[in-house]
Formats: sequence, C-alpha cells, structure tokens
Amino acid sequence: MTWIDETLERARSPIYINDSKTPSGVAHVGSLRGVLTHDALLRVARGGGAQARFTYGCDDMDPVDEIPHGMGEYFREHLGKPLYAAPTPPELAGDSMAQAYFAEFTSNFEPLGVDAEFYYMSDIYRAGRLDDTIDVFLRRAAAVREIYLRETGAVRPDDWLPFQPICERCGRIGTTFASDYDGETVAYQCLPDLVAWAEGCGATGRVSPFGGAGKLPWKLEWVAKWKVLPVTVEGAGKDHMGAGGSHKVAAALAREVLECPVPISFTYEFFTLGGAKMSSSRGIGLSASELVACLPPQLLRYLVLKVQVRRALDFDLDLATLNGAFAEYERLWNSVYEGNANSNQQQLFAISQLVDATETASPPTYSPPFDSVVSVVQQPHIDLSAHVAALGVGPLSDADRDWIDVKRRAAVSWSRRFSESASRLMVADDLPQATDDLSNQQRGFLSVSRRLLGELETWQAATIQATLFDAARIVGITPAEAFVALYTAFFGWPEGPRAGSFLEFLGRGPACERLGEVTFSYPELVAVTAMELDDWNRAVTTAAAEQHEFSILPNWIPESDDSGKLANSGVLELFVADAKGRMSAQRAVRNGTEEAFSEEARTHVARLVGIAETEVPIRPDNPFG
Ligand SMILES: [Zn+2]
Repeated sequence: MTWIDETLERARSPIYINDSKTPSGVAHVGSLRGVLTHDALLRVARGGGAQARFTYGCDDMDPVDEIPHGMGEYFREHLGKPLYAAPTPPELAGDSMAQAYFAEFTSNFEPLGVDAEFYYMSDIYRAGRLDDTIDVFLRRAAAVREIYLRETGAVRPDDWLPFQPICERCGRIGTTFASDYDGETVAYQCLPDLVAWAEGCGATGRVSPFGGAGKLPWKLEWVAKWKVLPVTVEGAGKDHMGAGGSHKVAAALAREVLECPVPISFTYEFFTLGGAKMSSSRGIGLSASELVACLPPQLLRYLVLKVQVRRALDFDLDLATLNGAFAEYERLWNSVYEGNANSNQQQLFAISQLVDATETASPPTYSPPFDSVVSVVQQPHIDLSAHVAALGVGPLSDADRDWIDVKRRAAVSWSRRFSESASRLMVADDLPQATDDLSNQQRGFLSVSRRLLGELETWQAATIQATLFDAARIVGITPAEAFVALYTAFFGWPEGPRAGSFLEFLGRGPACERLGEVTFSYPELVAVTAMELDDWNRAVTTAAAEQHEFSILPNWIPESDDSGKLANSGVLELFVADAKGRMSAQRAVRNGTEEAFSEEARTHVARLVGIAETEVPIRPDNPFG
C-alpha cells in the first residue's frame, strides 16, 4: 500500500483534489512536484473506480509582492495591485501578468498528461461564490484574530478585519486595511506603510466586501476554497506545513469558524535540480517549462513520483543521471510487462504514464543508452530511423522504434540545453588530431579493434565490448588505456559513453571506418611488447597442456617496414583464448629467413607441443596488418 492509497482511503467521496498557484513569475521546477503529485492521486482514485476530479486554481487576486527577475522598471508601479490587474510581461502572451504566468506554467500540463480543470480566483470572487464565507469571517473577526494569535503569535489590532479591499483610487489590494463591518460594507484605508514591498495611496472609503471588490487574506481564502469547491484532498509544500504554518492556521479556521471539514492533507518536500533551490524572482535555475522540454514526460513523471513525497527530491540533469534514469525506467517497464512487479511498482509505472492504460505496452527489446543517442543525434547527416534500421541489431518492433524516437527527441533538446556537455559526445568529422598523441600501442589497439570488429558475427553491445577487451590484451595495454584511445579517436576527448553500446548504436560501418583511419607501427609494438623466445615457448606449451584454444601467427618484418634492429626479423604471435573465451596474445622475435619463416614457425611449434606440423593451428587472418 502506498501513501497515495492511504491518502485516498481517508478522503471523503466524491474525491475533489485541489491545488493552486500564485502566478507571480515564471514557475521554477519545484512547482511541478505538487502538480504531478495531485495528478497521481487523481489517477489512482479514478483507477480504483472512484468519482474524482482535480482542479488547479490561479490565485490571481493575490497582490504583486515581488518583481519578476530583471523586470524592475516594468512592474514597480504595479506592486500591491492584484496580479490580474498587472500588465502582461514582455515576451509572454495573455491579458495580464496573472494570466500570462499561469498560462506559461499550465501549458506544461497537457504534455505531462496532467488532467486538471483550471479556475481563476477572480472569477470565483466576482461570481459571488465566496460572499457567504466572507460574511462569516467578517462577523467572526474576533475569533479569526484569536486563532492567529494562538497559532502563530501574530497580534492583530482590535479593529482589524480579515479582508483586503481593492483601493478605489489606486487599485492596490496589498496596501489596504479594513475595519468596521456593518453587514454590507467595510471601511478601509490605503496605507503607505502597511507593507514593505508596496506603497498605498492614502485613500479612505467604504466598499462592499462582496463580488470581487477585495479578497480574503490567503490563509482564509484557502479555507474558503475548501468549503466552497468543496475540496476533499489537498497537499501543500513543506513551507506551509508544521507548527505555526499556514496549514495549521487554515485548519483551525475551518474547524472553529467555518465549521467545515479539513481536506485530507499531505506534505511534499522541495524539488530541486542539482541541489540548488530554485527561485523564480531571483531567476535561478531551470524553469518548469525548460525541464519539461528537456525530458520525456513519462520519465519526468517517473523521476518525480518515485520519490516519497516527504523526502526531498533532487536530481541532476547530467548524462550519468539520465542514462541511469532511462535504464531504471526501462527495467520497471519490463518487470511490469512481465508480471514480475509488486503492486507499488505497478502503481508507480501506471502513474508515470501520460494516460491511463488498461494494458501495459510492450517494452522495447533494443534501447540504446541515452548518451549514445545524444552522440549519434548530433551528427547532422544521420537520419535516425534509417540509421537504426541499418544497424543490424536484430528485427525492431514498433515499440523499439517509438521508444528510440522518444530518446531521440530528448537527446536533441538535452543537447541544445547542455550544449557544452553534449559537444563532448560529438563524433568528430575527421580523425581527431589528438589521436597522434596516443601511444603506438594505443593506436595499435584501435587498428586491431577495427580488424576484429569487422569480423564479428553479431553486432551487439556485449560482443563489441568483449572484442575491445580482447584487442587491448592483444596489444598489451590496460582497458583504461584502451578506452581513452577509443574515445579520442571518436570524440577527440578521453571520455565517452559505454563503448560497446555506443559502437553498437553508431553502427559497424561508421565504427570500422573511423578505426581504419588510425595507423601504427607493428615493429614498434613488437619492440615494446615481445618476450624472450624461451618464455614464449613456455606460453605455447602451457596453452596446449591446459587445452586452451590457441593459434599461431608467423609474421615477417621486412626491411622496408623498419629501419631499426627488427628489420628482416620474424615474429611469432601466439593467440590464446581462456576458458571464458577471452583472447590475449604474446609474441617473440625469432631469427629466420623471409621465404622459410612460416614453415620454420610451424615446425618449431609442432616440436614444442608434440603434434604433427599439419595440426599446428595457424591463425588465418592477421589482425595487425
Ligand atoms: Zn490606494
């Protein structure tokens, strides 16, 4: 049973889920947690057959109390006015500041599969739907003041009324002080120093508190919504919860003044990216829209919803995290599809989807890692679907192709957003200059890899990866040295995605073509790696005695290949595959003549092992040449 099940079990039916937003700036990523969490409740409620709806309110009666980042001159004169009365920010569409920011944020709902109904608080006030509640709060102002004092320690003047009229002269709502309710009107003053962030005009007057001429302070407005909508489930960010928090006050107001039930509530922790708390007014971090543009919606839902609401949610958008996230999501998908998932996992997968599905779509059978996709999509000449069809990774289903396309789109937007990181995965048009700085053995590794990969029977990440390890052992370098060489040849940079998967997705043709451009000196490799002939002889007899699969390759270094001391020398290569099929090679220099060297090598090994010359296994191809 998940926290969602437990929450819904306690909620009154029909289930009415509500959440809202003050549209005072471009919403940062943190705002998405509440939205997705409430939507998950809706999904599970409906999935369980309950009648349920989810409304999402625009708190557009709230005053402009801070200026969006970088817009000081534009908004200063509107500080204190209701958000619906402040102008549309430049570069956004809408009739007002409230509408523009609300629309900017909620335009992400449909792509994320969030099924919310929108409402504007200004409409609710103007329609008179809160009038009765306003009347109760004004008549019982003393009780409201008492609750504020008890729950938060805040002292309100004896004549203070829980209402904020809109000043008839300057249009501000954040600067007015209301008193003296006579059942039809309240008196108000528009004070220059009521709040620090806005200056009232000094006007005084009497207005009706009904029909949108003003608003309730927001804790009271919250309670009024609970009663009027009527809300049965509503969570809140942790900044509203806890002792002295807004929710505590609101709950007391509901029970003691409005005498309405408090919705089932839950607290959700902050949602940050890369450990940094975002702030829309300070312009820090990614906006919600930017994040939605970066990640496939089901992956974003998954990343947000998999973390318990009471735990802080934080992830990075680096490649390692995204590789892991995709892989994790695909594993969950597979286990749900195969029927191996427990009920919590099934629920997590279901609420990560964009729509409710009666059946789980079949998961992809081939899915290249995200970083490989990032690398390949950056090659402008590649048409990805044709590329994938030509990969030879086996027959691909529609599900495979669809999912690769999801990753492709994510890779394109991720690369745009994080172009510096993405450029490190860009396959260079030509063999990078940095390849010249690799050691001769490293370049030998690339050349040998090209030979071995060209002959692979199946072009699959695991066999490719194993072949690269073989090639590293054959030239006598460590895997770390080998992968530095490989990445350098493709990216001009010593790091990259997991090599086997990357080459698999790049395709055999382009992979071998690039590796084929690398040159190295075989005599130099021999000079550095050759062992004494006696040691080599022992290696041959050991391999034969342990019945390892082995083969011999006699190589001749002609004078034209080497001006050094190895000119006109024979090299005996021994290739051994161990019990796990891992290939290595050892070599020794042996004197001889060019014409007779192959025959002499055969005779030499036949004697060593005690077999007929015709039985000496000679390697048919030369991976060095
Ligand atoms: Zn005023």
